Amino acid sequence: MSLRVAVVGGGIGGLCLAQGLRRSGVDVAVYERDSGPKMRRQGYRIHLDSRAARALHECLPPDVYELFRGTLGRPGAALSVIDERLKVLHRTEGTGLDPRAADPDSLSAPANRQTLREVLSTGLEDVIVYGRRLVEYHEADEPQGIRLRFDDGSSARADVVVGADGVGSAVRHQLLPHARVADTGARCVYGKTPLTGGIELPEPVREGFTAVIGGAAVGMSCALVRFPEPPERVAERVCPAARLSPVADYVMWAVTGPAAAFGVADDDLLGRDDAGLHRLAAAAVSGWHPQLRELVDRADVEETFLIRINTAEPTPAWPPGRVTVLGDAIHAMSPAGGSGANTALMDAAILRAALVRADRGEQPLAEAVGEYEHRMREYGYAAVAASDRNMGGLWARRHPVLARIAWLLGKRW
Ligand SMILES: Cc1cc2nc3c(=O)[nH]c(=O)nc-3n(C[C@H](O)[C@H](O)[C@H](O)COP(=O)(O)OP(=O)(O)OC[C@H]3O[C@@H](n4cnc5c(N)ncnc54)[C@H](O)[C@@H]3O)c2cc1C
Repeated sequence: MSLRVAVVGGGIGGLCLAQGLRRSGVDVAVYERDSGPKMRRQGYRIHLDSRAARALHECLPPDVYELFRGTLGRPGAALSVIDERLKVLHRTEGTGLDPRAADPDSLSAPANRQTLREVLSTGLEDVIVYGRRLVEYHEADEPQGIRLRFDDGSSARADVVVGADGVGSAVRHQLLPHARVADTGARCVYGKTPLTGGIELPEPVREGFTAVIGGAAVGMSCALVRFPEPPERVAERVCPAARLSPVADYVMWAVTGPAAAFGVADDDLLGRDDAGLHRLAAAAVSGWHPQLRELVDRADVEETFLIRINTAEPTPAWPPGRVTVLGDAIHAMSPAGGSGANTALMDAAILRAALVRADRGEQPLAEAVGEYEHRMREYGYAAVAASDRNMGGLWARRHPVLARIAWLLGKRW
């Protein structure tokens, strides 16, 4: 009998898994709490590498994969660490690889997160059910399978449930109530500045990912996102079925530090609206070089948002079964290191292959899921540890400036 797979969460990992299952003829439905494909504030630029490219190459139909590659931003020419007066402290040349020409193994380029979600949704219109926030699932005996209950009172049934529902995962809470996600205390105010009105960018920012070491208080990272061709035009050419929102070139910036570095208490920072956060970020860099200040001052204020940096603690192996988890739901990590999305996509490709084997009767379901979980825990928690190291880890207290350099350098470009 063919498997019915319910994916909870239509984010990066969940959509990639759904694409792959559908491509292999496995019955799949995605339940997403958002009311539509337009994303909540989760970040603008996301750096993807060969882990993501291989997974997407495996899971996406060829035209959607071409769309993915065609809508990537230009890779940076260099990575720089500068001080708040624009003095260059460190510079590394980029690879110069064009994401369009590169094969999956050498891909290294930024994507616009909203565009990526729209690309990954292409062709899944009849598979994604928006406005369904999972409250709980209930495992019954065969043949009823698992019952999923959503907050609007509706329910659904499936043979396999995949929690791809991010760091606050409802599926993980139920499956692995002992799994822990730690709050690192670091806070990031993220913003987006359009390249309009003759804004003058510092030279390192024009060249690529730039980390600014701003004295004792906060650090800032910024990266230019420039599209070789407007994504919506690429869609017309490569995959006319895709519906991509227009997006113009921009600079993403992130001002990072503990709440105290923004001059407020943590609760106050966490409760601020976009304008309040923007004011705090602007104040935190007010003594910096005018070009850096301008970058923050000229942001789209309503696009400013805050993230707290969480990191998963490794959960020991659990008995595999019909419910599993992927991505941030199980190995959430700080954005330092640029691995969260890349590993979520890896999970999706490996789990997809496992579920296809089970669907075809080539391997018992629990064994296939167990193999996926074993591999995922290894590279997933290794990536969490690497991201922690990039954030400075235990020596951050003693060497705050070095820790910040490490954090910022670790942010992949
Ligand atoms: C600002 C920022 C910058 C980042 N930069 C990078 C980078 O450069 N490179 C990189 O590799 N990673 C980066 N990351 C990390 C990356 O974004 C995440 O690791 C990645 O999105 C995880 O994918 P996911 O599918 O597991 O979860 P998500 O993409 O978070 O998707 C989870 C989905 O589940 C939905 N959901 C949640 N709860 C429920 C529920 N109960 N019922 C139904 N649906 C639910 C959510 O609405 C969401 O759509 C960054 C993260 C942030 C915040």
